[in-house]
Amino acid sequence: MTYDVAIIGAGIVGCFLARELSQYNLNVIVLEKDNDVGNEASMANSAIVHSGYDPIENTLKAKLNVLGNAMFDKICEELDVKFSRIGSLTLAFNEKEVETLKMLQQRAFNNGVDVEILTYEQIKQIEPFVNENVKAGLYAKTAGIVDPFNLCIHAMENAIDNGVTLILNENINKIIKENDLFILNNKYQSKVVINCAGINADEINNLVNKETFKIISRKGQYYVLNHFKDEFVKHTLFMVPSDKGKGVLISPTTSGNYLIGPSAEETNKFSKSTDLKTLDEVAKQANLMVDKIPYYQTIRTFAGLRATPSTHDFIIQESDTKNFINVAGIESPGLTSSPAIAKMVVEEIISKMLPLTKKENYNPKIKKYIKIKELTLDEKKKMFAIDKDYGTIICKCEQVSLGEIKDCLSRSCPPHSIKALKKRLRVGFGKCQGGMCQAEALSVLAKFYKVDKKDIMYDNLNSYILYSKTKGEN
Ligand SMILES: Cc1cc2nc3c(=O)[nH]c(=O)nc-3n(C[C@H](O)[C@H](O)[C@H](O)COP(=O)(O)OP(=O)(O)OC[C@H]3O[C@@H](n4cnc5c(N)ncnc54)[C@H](O)[C@@H]3O)c2cc1C
Repeated sequence: MTYDVAIIGAGIVGCFLARELSQYNLNVIVLEKDNDVGNEASMANSAIVHSGYDPIENTLKAKLNVLGNAMFDKICEELDVKFSRIGSLTLAFNEKEVETLKMLQQRAFNNGVDVEILTYEQIKQIEPFVNENVKAGLYAKTAGIVDPFNLCIHAMENAIDNGVTLILNENINKIIKENDLFILNNKYQSKVVINCAGINADEINNLVNKETFKIISRKGQYYVLNHFKDEFVKHTLFMVPSDKGKGVLISPTTSGNYLIGPSAEETNKFSKSTDLKTLDEVAKQANLMVDKIPYYQTIRTFAGLRATPSTHDFIIQESDTKNFINVAGIESPGLTSSPAIAKMVVEEIISKMLPLTKKENYNPKIKKYIKIKELTLDEKKKMFAIDKDYGTIICKCEQVSLGEIKDCLSRSCPPHSIKALKKRLRVGFGKCQGGMCQAEALSVLAKFYKVDKKDIMYDNLNSYILYSKTKGEN
């Protein structure tokens, strides 16, 4: 079969591109090297929907950040993804930083973003946890937080529901062009190729073009705090940005946890480990903003890799090879910009390559997910009466039932691994980090896929959890 469009990479950019294209009469295929969608930068980030005061004027970053931010309410409603406009405060600690805030206020104005500078007293009224050494803060009320895992997964679920094909575990390492058609890995033929391969986008580009840009991998390390009952920060708290990026932040997440980070260090494209020295430095920075951060609530640390382009702006254009499009160097604010990036690529670039006619039966919505944890007792009782699996709790920390897992497995972008299940439903995301529920979750997956338990991977292929039986058959 010849596809109209082949998308390389199912991060948030590839997922939104697939969804955007799925409204047209086109054959679209997504080729992803991992065992799940959204498994790289798109799952290991700060999960902030940035307001857009920070990117330099007239860059693609500035334009697409602001356009993307405005799209989130509708998209998250259609895709049943948690999103909340909690607002952000960028805190200045001395007169020089206050001057930088004034420069950022002007930049926000130029970018079309509504912000105001608050005094320490005004900040204290809306965010009592900040330290008294804060001099002023830039308040951006349109900033928000989102569930980045399900943003990718539900966008892809919606794209597949509308006819897109997703192939996992397909590492693209060969592309040739023959008679106006691209042939990828000697298997997939397509008229148009879109390169959304994150930190590998330069290598994918170099398979068909001369080297025109480089992607540098910059690591960001974080602490994740558990959700707890005591009051804590309600806004995303940033430090004043520097040439290294936005700096360390403290932010609530849509699941009630808190993120503290990230660091910023150049690294190779495979290094996702965290280290105490860097995390200590992150804590030192964060402690400037808030005194009493409850680090004893830390349930894990993680790192994500920024795909920093040598060109200093998003690279979104047709390459020297006709019908080969690079969507590369999508570092922060890439999560925020992703829906606007997809719209721009389709409307401004693909429309010149392929005829775009709308499908009559396109549906932008997915079926809503039932979340037992969020139901009232009466609603829970009703659900148990309809299906008793909703009364069997598998993940006790995050209160996820067997019914929810079965529903998730029946969807068009289902989990194949323990980590994929964790990203979708938070099974194993809580205080015990899967210690209590992982074995049960593994059994449910093995039963559903009718495979031996040892064939259920933690994440990518060959990430075995079980190697062989020690006794008996089960
Ligand atoms: C530490 C950190 C913090 C951030 N915080 C924010 C934030 O708060 N707000 C915000 O807006 N943005 C943030 N970002 C940026 C945002 O996460 C990224 O811009 C966005 O996730 C990029 O999406 P992507 O699809 O381009 O890349 P990715 O998510 O990396 O996806 C690329 C995909 O391509 C696949 N791939 C790679 N090579 C191949 C191959 N050869 N064959 C097939 N598939 C391949 C990968 O497996 C992956 O799935 C942050 C990023 C980092 C790292």
